Amino acid sequence: MVRLGVEFSIGGFTFKRFTVNSPLDYLHRIEAPILGLAQAIDGKSAGFSFQQKIAPKFAFGEVDPALDLCMSIGQFPTGVRSSLKVGFQFESEIPNSGKLRQFSVVRIAGSTVLATGNHPLAGKVVDIAGAILSVRHADELELQHQHAHGPFTRVHGIIPSQAPTKLQQHPCETGSE
Ligand SMILES: [Zn+2]
Repeated sequence: MVRLGVEFSIGGFTFKRFTVNSPLDYLHRIEAPILGLAQAIDGKSAGFSFQQKIAPKFAFGEVDPALDLCMSIGQFPTGVRSSLKVGFQFESEIPNSGKLRQFSVVRIAGSTVLATGNHPLAGKVVDIAGAILSVRHADELELQHQHAHGPFTRVHGIIPSQAPTKLQQHPCETGSE
């Protein structure tokens, strides 16, 4: 289990900060806050400090146009339609892949719903700066759960899916037909 103090910034704007009083705890090589951070501290011990630029591929991913979807409001179940708004999240299959992914609604225009499976920070270079505060072995329960336990860690539980897992969809058409 690695405990870090670290700042994440993009273009000089810090969007997430973990400090000594509220550190980032995670299980190295099991969980990955972002891949570039895991690589930066791999094999290092407490006291190691780092400052690096992380390419999108090793941060929140490149922007993938295939993950931008045009859907019709009718594809959402009736119970969901009335509460549908920008930011609404649902899990669905990536077209032609069979893989599940989390999507969020980015725009609603008439009966057309635009949703994206791209991370909001996809395509961005992320600056990381911080230090390893401490390192300890993961305990058995942590390994079983695949995440760190500690005074600063996440609440246990499963977030219920807000929408059905299977919706028919297709990537947004970019050209004219
Ligand atoms: Zn747990």
